[in-house]
Amino acid sequence: MRGRYVTHVLVTGGAGYIGSHACKALKAAGHVPVTYDNLVTGWEDAVKFGPFERGDLLDRERLDEVFARYRPVAVMHFAALSQVGEAMSEPGRYWRNNVCGSLTLIEAAVAAGCLDFVFSSTCATYGEHDNVVLDENTPQEPLNAYGASKRAVENILRDFEAAHGLRHVIFRYFNVAGADPEGEIGEHHRPETHLIPLMLDAIYGKRPALTVFGTDYDTPDGTCIRDYVHVCDLVDAHVLGLKWLQDGKGSRVFNLGTGTGFSVMEVIEQSRAVTNRTVPFEIGPRRAGDATRLVSGSVRAEKELGWKPTRSNMGAMIADAWRWHQTGHYDK
Ligand code: UDP
Repeated sequence: MRGRYVTHVLVTGGAGYIGSHACKALKAAGHVPVTYDNLVTGWEDAVKFGPFERGDLLDRERLDEVFARYRPVAVMHFAALSQVGEAMSEPGRYWRNNVCGSLTLIEAAVAAGCLDFVFSSTCATYGEHDNVVLDENTPQEPLNAYGASKRAVENILRDFEAAHGLRHVIFRYFNVAGADPEGEIGEHHRPETHLIPLMLDAIYGKRPALTVFGTDYDTPDGTCIRDYVHVCDLVDAHVLGLKWLQDGKGSRVFNLGTGTGFSVMEVIEQSRAVTNRTVPFEIGPRRAGDATRLVSGSVRAEKELGWKPTRSNMGAMIADAWRWHQTGHYDK
């Protein structure tokens, strides 16, 4: 009787890093993930677990068509520009794509009567709070247009709940890392800006030495501290978030992090240990928009959703990313 429960879920950004892992997890949970992606930063060959509809978030007509074709029971909204550096230099793209695009999607979902919405937000909405435990009630004071755009969408969701009954689960991610341990999908950004894939490239000799962005932060070794969570654990939380909504539990915000922080230098050291190779790196200036320390101080997802991260230790994340990295997908 399993088929009775098969439901379509619209996954925006399903051709991207986190979205493609979410599609795999949704399929495993008995759903049909319908990827909606404009392929600006996504990859069509990452769409392996359900139908693909190419389209832009700002294209309301195309969105209406896709909602009408599949009648999804819920939306998982991953599609976004997500680079802090780029957000500092091109804020307009972030506001247009992330905010206007999300608004268009939210309006289309409401018009189609699809009222369960899972949103991929970020710890970058918190901004700089030195020595403060970041939980879901920490004031949101983003330092860059990326965080600001995500905070704006959170506010849109609240207004649409009040006006139209749009139920939502908001996940504020810390740093996502790792890859599908079965090697089907992994991280592939163009251009790559994230620490772990850049480091693995440097180890592999595909790129010049990694530049460490600043060693003068107020941390034990002077480099920024982040809380890394395995992409498979992260998407498991999304499947639980969808169930939460379908069980009628109402709108909720959850941090997704492990509560353990790693400095850039500690990540370099762990990468050396996992790959057994030296990590070529040099010290550079700070990157604009970077907070000193972003570590989750919340166990709400564990307590309320029953989320149990199993792969979010640094060794496993680097090992899974390294395995994916060596498949050659990065060479495309
Ligand atoms: N970082 C670095 N060199 C790089 C890329 C990143 O030192 O080439 C640092 C960055 O300053 C931050 C951490 O690594 O402290 C994680 O950065 P990433 O871009 O991976 O994620 P973010 O924290 O911006 O979401």
